[in-house]
Amino acid sequence: MSEFKLDDGDLMAYLAGEASPEVVQAIESSEATLMEVNALKSLDVSFFKSQFRSNCPDTQQLLEYEVGFLSDELYAEVKHHLSNCPHCQAEVATLAEVELESESVSTLTALKSKLDELIAAGKTILDTVFVPPAPQPAFALRGEQQGVQTYQAEGYQVILSIQPPVASEKNAKVEGQLNNLDDPLTEFQGTISLYKDESLLKEEPIDTFGYFSFGNIGFGAYDLLIELSSSTLTVRDIEIE
Ligand SMILES: [Zn+2]
Repeated sequence: MSEFKLDDGDLMAYLAGEASPEVVQAIESSEATLMEVNALKSLDVSFFKSQFRSNCPDTQQLLEYEVGFLSDELYAEVKHHLSNCPHCQAEVATLAEVELESESVSTLTALKSKLDELIAAGKTILDTVFVPPAPQPAFALRGEQQGVQTYQAEGYQVILSIQPPVASEKNAKVEGQLNNLDDPLTEFQGTISLYKDESLLKEEPIDTFGYFSFGNIGFGAYDLLIELSSSTLTVRDIEIE
């Protein structure tokens, strides 16, 4: 094969699918040139983005939007942007597909392996059980109490208030409070994690007073894992519907 001299113009033409068969052959037969083409390609993509999507959230942010990692404020911003931007809508749709296809996104940790890990470390797991509400006078059975659920394990009580999503929006909110009934003045230390379909969705430090709140979540089955220094509590199968 004769040595074929390639210049940047040839590489660009190749990327655009307009190179001659000779050029295509020369590029594809050399690994070094292929690497150069790929470098050029990513430059090209970022150049394209900088020109045409300069106001768009980056891919990472769109992914975080999709999996529900964004703060309330950023979520609202991205959502507003999406309503006006077909490019980002398309990108989010692609990301959602990729997310479904991939066995596990690297940021997701399975609940089961987390529990195994805690048990192996000698931690006590307390599985809370749902406590049916006490019978209430008929006049109190309206509105506000509907989304409130109480769970208990040993001396710990977890009270959840669930605001369901409106239509198919990801705007459900779970607020809660952890109480230690044996010692109401406990100052809590630890983390609380929200799992969806057995995968970690959000994790945050628990408030000293035991308050916590998770927003921007959609329909589905959720689990809570509350890791305290002494023990770990689970609240399983919280249905948001
Ligand atoms: Zn956009």
